[in-house]
Amino acid sequence: MSVHNLKNFINISNSIKKISNKVNIIAVTKTFPLEIVRPLIDYGHLHYGENQVLEAINKWSNLLKNNNAIKLHMIGHLQSNKVKEAVSIFSYIHSLDSEKLASKISFEQNKIKKSIKLFIQVNIGNENQKNGIRITEVSSFLKLCIFKYKLDIVGLMCIPPVNQDPSPYFNLLKELALNNNLSNLSMGMSGDYLKAIKCGSSYVRIGSAIFGKRN
Ligand SMILES: *Cc1c(COP(=O)(O)O)cnc(C)c1O
Repeated sequence: MSVHNLKNFINISNSIKKISNKVNIIAVTKTFPLEIVRPLIDYGHLHYGENQVLEAINKWSNLLKNNNAIKLHMIGHLQSNKVKEAVSIFSYIHSLDSEKLASKISFEQNKIKKSIKLFIQVNIGNENQKNGIRITEVSSFLKLCIFKYKLDIVGLMCIPPVNQDPSPYFNLLKELALNNNLSNLSMGMSGDYLKAIKCGSSYVRIGSAIFGKRN
């Protein structure tokens, strides 16, 4: 069963390379145990995504001790009381969306002399229920992160509204990134990664298209 996962991954990777060779695939392993992920690890894939801090620590801590090439990405909403643990295990956080988080990340990573690569999550569809910085506040929030908290902001991340063509939202995020001199875009999931890449995505977050349906 897990051999199929590697096949899926290679097929996806090949279809992406036809469009761009600058895209990083984050294999989203949330809910899947390490046995399921193992063929990708053995194949040499390095980027994995989780959306819960404790699950990430339980699943990956041991493996990371012997393999520091693997990079874990926090792609889910981050609670401020989990920042210390998150900073200890993740190389990237895609869900920076408040000054409180910026401040805590700064404080915790300084203590252990680490510099996490961060994406500012943008509420690109201006939806009440969604996390993320408002489009109109991205510039000022970015400045705060860089100058007050000395954070390494590498790009912008979004999750577009469901049941709509995501391309206009992807294009909007790209324009926002360009206007703010940010070079990376974290956008695109199993259902829309090709569209996201055509709009300039550099990090796609793909789970079910590789590992199958989650329970
Ligand atoms: C779960 C998740 C993904 C992956 O979703 P799939 O549809 O399984 O590819 C991507 N991004 C975020 C933020 C997620 O929570």
